[in-house]
Amino acid sequence: MSEEAPAEERIEKALQKLSRDAQSGGYHLNPDREFTKDLIAGLLVNEDRYGYWACPCRLASGKKEEDLDIICPCDYRDPDLGAFHMCYCALYVSEKVIRKEVVLEGSIPERRPPGGKRDKQIPGGALLPGKLAYPVWRCKVCGYLCAREEPPETCPVCKVKKERFERFL
Ligand code: SF4
Repeated sequence: MSEEAPAEERIEKALQKLSRDAQSGGYHLNPDREFTKDLIAGLLVNEDRYGYWACPCRLASGKKEEDLDIICPCDYRDPDLGAFHMCYCALYVSEKVIRKEVVLEGSIPERRPPGGKRDKQIPGGALLPGKLAYPVWRCKVCGYLCAREEPPETCPVCKVKKERFERFL
């Protein structure tokens, strides 16, 4: 495995792909291009090191099954976008940041539970209403469902705004 810094061309290619994916999913990359490219370089270093896109702002274990929740985009991106207008690394930001209605300040709290608590999370243990980790929201236009603290700013499927979502569970 190489520990060399990723080449500019590779970073640029990854940036283009992430931008397209973000746009098609109703997400937004941080408009600070150099900052965003630095984070992407970190993702590519982790790809070379571990074989997957471990979050560049967190310490990965190097064991994929233990790091699944922090493979970018991590499990914590959407709730952090809803609560703080940015993901933990600030690679993704909310539409309000893009529209300059919100200014990002400093860092946000780490949402990822410590290792011991993560180990106790039971996969599939959140199937019953009332036991869900997050409420489930339904897009009233296309039926898209997502489990998170708040509905997304934009439906990733049909692109309608947050107000067209209803609480489903
Ligand atoms: S915090 Fe941001 S950059 Fe890190 S894994 Fe999550 S979405 Fe990706």
